[in-house]
Amino acid sequence: MERVTELTDLVDRVDFGGDYSQSDLVDALNKIGIGPGDVVYTVVNLPALGNAKDCSTEDDTYRCLLGALQETVGESGTILVPTYTFSFCRREIFDVQSTPSINGPWSPSTGFLEYVRQQPDAIRSVDPIHSVAGIGPRAAEILTNLPATCFGEDSVPDRLRRIGAKICTIGLGLHESNFQHHVEEVLGVPFRFKKLFTGQIRNHGVTEKKGWIYNVGILAKNGRLDEHRLEKGAREAGLCLAAPVGRGELLGIDSRKLFDFTSQALTRDPWITAEGPAGDPVELERLRVAAPRHEVDLPPNSSTLELIQAIWKLPRDIVSEGYDAALAALGTQVPMKVHEYPTGTECWSWIIPEKWTCHEAYLESLDGRRLFSYADNPLHVVSYSLPFEGEVSRAELFEHLHVHHKIPDAVPFIFKYYERDWGLCCSKDLRDTLNDERYKVVIRSDFSFGTLKVGEIVAPGKTDECIVLCAHLCHPAMVNDDLAGVVVGIKVMQSLLSRSDLHYTYRFIILPETIGSVAYLSQNEQLIQKMKGGLFLEMLGLDNPHALQRSFAGNTEVDLCLSLALKERDPLGWTGAYRTIIGNDERQFNGPGVRVPMLSLSRVLPPADADWPYREYHSSHDAPEMTSLKSLDDSIQMVLHMVDTIEKNTVPVNRFKGEVFCSRFGMSFEEASNPEAYRALFYVMDLIDGTHSVAQIASKCGISFETTLSIVSELQARGLVEQIFVDKKPGARGTSSWTTS
Ligand SMILES: [Zn+2]
Repeated sequence: MERVTELTDLVDRVDFGGDYSQSDLVDALNKIGIGPGDVVYTVVNLPALGNAKDCSTEDDTYRCLLGALQETVGESGTILVPTYTFSFCRREIFDVQSTPSINGPWSPSTGFLEYVRQQPDAIRSVDPIHSVAGIGPRAAEILTNLPATCFGEDSVPDRLRRIGAKICTIGLGLHESNFQHHVEEVLGVPFRFKKLFTGQIRNHGVTEKKGWIYNVGILAKNGRLDEHRLEKGAREAGLCLAAPVGRGELLGIDSRKLFDFTSQALTRDPWITAEGPAGDPVELERLRVAAPRHEVDLPPNSSTLELIQAIWKLPRDIVSEGYDAALAALGTQVPMKVHEYPTGTECWSWIIPEKWTCHEAYLESLDGRRLFSYADNPLHVVSYSLPFEGEVSRAELFEHLHVHHKIPDAVPFIFKYYERDWGLCCSKDLRDTLNDERYKVVIRSDFSFGTLKVGEIVAPGKTDECIVLCAHLCHPAMVNDDLAGVVVGIKVMQSLLSRSDLHYTYRFIILPETIGSVAYLSQNEQLIQKMKGGLFLEMLGLDNPHALQRSFAGNTEVDLCLSLALKERDPLGWTGAYRTIIGNDERQFNGPGVRVPMLSLSRVLPPADADWPYREYHSSHDAPEMTSLKSLDDSIQMVLHMVDTIEKNTVPVNRFKGEVFCSRFGMSFEEASNPEAYRALFYVMDLIDGTHSVAQIASKCGISFETTLSIVSELQARGLVEQIFVDKKPGARGTSSWTTS
């Protein structure tokens, strides 16, 4: 055996004897423009060069290449290589010190990458997807304190460009440097988008939860990397230099020149770095995924019941065909503008997620008995579940199988939009019957490039200062949370659209929860200043009294008006401070930097109730059967009354001084017919000084808005008072200070 090994070694030595030497490499590196002091980012495919002279082992070959690179750049130069792991894409922990580089076309000589990474003086970046390792005096400056982005601002490629590093490919095309992905992100090409990956990074034994942005390509084949055009152009322009070595060649280019050249090329043709042909990425992805389309048939002016019956069961996930179908159906009832925000769009600190499609999903026993299926109810699959197909143990299944904690025979609504995982849902009753050791899981889901849609319905008033009504539509196959709020909003808007006497403009926006508000507000910042206040609507088909949650500021005109209106129309209705009743999209409107006073109207139970917000919340039992049409109708009337209160909330200005001589003007109210007015007349008149609105006077006097208004009207009829519309001082939103106009 030993003799055979020796002979093999000898043969290997002969075979590895001939194609190039270290000095050939140094010559070639010089020819492609690399010299002393350079920072060189290199990708490597050593077999393409043939065999290195005098190298009998792979390590010898690596030593030869690293030696040549270091000899060329000298002690002041820095060498960098990709040590990609794609850990977060594979849902694995990235250990900076120990996760090995993985093999791929970007740099097939993984052994060399590992050889560099494991040098005692090497530094590796903490990027959990595209880490880079480097040796040399500038390695730390390029590879440490990086922002959480693979190709974005201040990423490794951005830093390489800023310091004028050289890109060198060894036995590989220029595209394998991946440098174009940085330029593509800076320019925003149509076939790539920002995607958030989450996971854990372990660095020197300390583990940290992180999110990382990777500007990925669409999966439709048009978006695949083109391997030739950019390199051909850069060579013809004399920017990319080539030098043969052994059986292959080295390419070198200054990263600044490559950046400029790529930018210009992409500006001329945004698809030049992709296979193409060019197309609408949403349509290309729709063809790739072939998501089922949903047909919804709604007659014009459908009743609340018809709206609920037609829409409730749709799989209305945040960006999905089901959501789009629901929004389009609502668009047949009122004039609606649909805003679209493409996947990957940065909206303040958020990113628009991908579209999610579930084609099919079920749980089966190993003998083929189907236990439940997505086809029966979309709630059986975690919204945004990763695809999964396979046989699992009961223990593993139970880690991914969710049940409702209050109702044993209900399927829960579970979503995992950003913490990626696969998951199924069923009733606790069903789970309790799962006694087999193994089960078959099938989840055929797809993630694709799409657009998040926000529907906007505007009832114009005399001023463009607006009141925003808001409801979300992204809860699949449920009614109270969230379709009920949408239906109430639609009916309110139909009524407002028929009016021509509105002072304020009313804007109803229908969106996927949270991300929809952030998208709409961040892309319409100019509107924020015009938003006087708002009201979020949900859970309005329950039998409970109304619950009104005040805004962050809590004491604005809108807070006052809505609280007074609530008291008048629903004697059992109750109010609570911001964030004490329920949290929805009003959080984004009230949040820092926005501060639009948006209240929330629902019919939740008080937070102290064990069933808060209501027993069927986020479950398959939140269905039409438990939805009261009377409650919905009462809520529609409630919102319209709130609108009227805001509309009528003028500022009475006194044309009298001192106290009014009531006997002279016949100013009096009968105690029997109007005890409130009788009691409060002088208190009300005392507050009529041009600085208090009707709502403020009503609150201070502890009487109803209507009574206050009736006193003001009587005074106005006698020429003693003038009513003026309330308009807030610019920048004074969220406070009680305002001016008259
Ligand atoms: Zn919800």
